[in-house]
Amino acid sequence: MSGGAGSRLRDVEGREYLDFCMAFGPLILGHADSGVRAAATGALERGWSLGTAEPYSLELAEYITGRLPWVESIRFVNSGTEAVMSALRVARAATGRSKILKFEGCYHGHADAMLLKAGSGLAEAPVPDSAGLAPDVVQETLIAPLDDEAALEKMFAREGEHIAAAIIEPLPANYGLLPQRPQFLQRLAALARSHAALLIFDEVITGFRLGLQGYAGLSGIHPDLVTYGKVIGGGFPVGAYGGRRSLMELVAPAGPVYQAGTLSANPLAMCAGLATLQRLEDGRVYRQLESLGQRLEKGLAGLPDIALQRVGSIFWLIRSAAMRPGGKPAAAIRSLRALPADAAAGFAPLFHRLLDEGIYLAPSAYEVGFLSAAHREADIDRLVEALRRSLGAGA
Ligand code: PMP
Repeated sequence: MSGGAGSRLRDVEGREYLDFCMAFGPLILGHADSGVRAAATGALERGWSLGTAEPYSLELAEYITGRLPWVESIRFVNSGTEAVMSALRVARAATGRSKILKFEGCYHGHADAMLLKAGSGLAEAPVPDSAGLAPDVVQETLIAPLDDEAALEKMFAREGEHIAAAIIEPLPANYGLLPQRPQFLQRLAALARSHAALLIFDEVITGFRLGLQGYAGLSGIHPDLVTYGKVIGGGFPVGAYGGRRSLMELVAPAGPVYQAGTLSANPLAMCAGLATLQRLEDGRVYRQLESLGQRLEKGLAGLPDIALQRVGSIFWLIRSAAMRPGGKPAAAIRSLRALPADAAAGFAPLFHRLLDEGIYLAPSAYEVGFLSAAHREADIDRLVEALRRSLGAGA
């Protein structure tokens, strides 16, 4: 693809595609949004990397800490991966412990310790662990299944005193979309607290997308540390980690946890991020996205062999013969164990059929789709009709 505008991608031969991947999530306002472009261009004209104190990261930080009470202090990095690496380092320093608990199918970027039983690009890999991981790093990672309080209890009973932090995507979105029961997350928070381990929410996908306050705001479960990425930079390279001030004060230069980055908090990304969040503030975009999501849900309800799990503007199309007609799985899919066995096999032909129709989905059965403020009702209807034709033709 050579470019994008609004809800469309354009390929190198000039063909246009209706995009439901949206760069894997950052582009909540659509491609090349004019407001974000103006903010980034302004920064470009003033000089794009200053290497010293500047007001732009401070403005973005104050915007966030003023609206998300569990983020008392925040630090900007260049990616979600870096945000997670740094938050884990803080957790280890704060607790003096080394083990990290993660969940099957959750993806937290490509730091070694997080590449076990990960989702995203590893979801369809023959082995869900990356090659090239140092054995002593891997030993520090504990893995629990999603949606299973009994397994959690056992894990904390056995390992609780060694666990520095439990990290979770509170709405797992890297192995399909696997909404967790609030009771499961509450149990996790309680077990972490009673074992003096920290709770880290990885909101790289959900942050500022499910609402300005992300999943922590929606659920009322406030983590000790939180990681952001994607929407927070409006499509520019930004990640962030934050949380309780007492924890964040461990980070250099105030404290002993080293973390720095030559290009971190560069003005271009900070200005683009702030312009994006400001557009989201009055809630109109979130309401629009919810109504588009409902339209998609209704449209799919009549189609065979396909179902949808959706939360706000994040959706997962499940292509499977096991799906009840009516658009939703008979029981919500919340863990890897509950995945339909034929979901991956059915996706590839569907993906190519849609591509031929000028519709672009993320190219994997387990990647979620994203709606943006640039999508219109007619775009949703086009997707539904293309799915109807594709499924009718046996894709
Ligand atoms: N955490 C989650 C939940 C993610 O979805 C991702 C990326 N998809 C990451 C971390 C890593 O972010 P990045 O690709 O910016 O390094």
